Amino acid sequence: MTEYQRILLTTMSYFFILCFLIYVVLFYILPKPAEVLTTIPAQQEIKLTTFGTKKDWQYLRKKVLKIQGRHCLKCGKKQDRMHIDHIRPKSKYPHLEFKIDNLQVLCGDCNRKKSFDKEVDYRSTHHLMALLKEVKTNKLIKRKYTHNLKHLEKLTIAKFQKDLRKG
Ligand SMILES: [Zn+2]
Repeated sequence: MTEYQRILLTTMSYFFILCFLIYVVLFYILPKPAEVLTTIPAQQEIKLTTFGTKKDWQYLRKKVLKIQGRHCLKCGKKQDRMHIDHIRPKSKYPHLEFKIDNLQVLCGDCNRKKSFDKEVDYRSTHHLMALLKEVKTNKLIKRKYTHNLKHLEKLTIAKFQKDLRKG
C-alpha cells in the first residue's frame, strides 16, 4: 500500500463515520417535524380556539336574559332554565360564541328542535333596540362582547322598517 492510498483510505473512513453521525443525529436524535406537531398537548390546542371562559358566559347569559326577558322568543314559553341559543351556531362560528349580538333566549324544546346548521334569528325590533341601547351604554359589552355594532344597527333599522310596512 502506498502512502497515497493510505491517506485516501483514512480520509474515506473519516468521511463515512461523519456521514453516519449526521444520519444518526438527523433521523434519531432530532425529532421529526410530524412528531413535533402531533405531540402538542390537547390542552394547548383548546386554548388556541377558546374565545371565552365560564365567567364570560355567566355574565352574557345574565345580560341576555335581562335584555330579552325570560320567555322563549319563538314560542313564548317560560321555563325555570331558559336556553341561550347561538343564532349562528358556535360549531361553525366559534369566534361568535361569546358575542351578545349572536345570542337569543329560547326554551329547551325550541332550542333542541332548531337544526344545527339553520340560522334563525327570532329577535324582534324591541329586542334589538334594547340590545343596541345596552351596547351603546355599556363599555365592556361594546368592547369585549359585541361582534359587529354596525351590522346590529343596520339589522335593527331593517326590522323596524319591515314592522312599519306590515302596519
Ligand atoms: Zn320555545
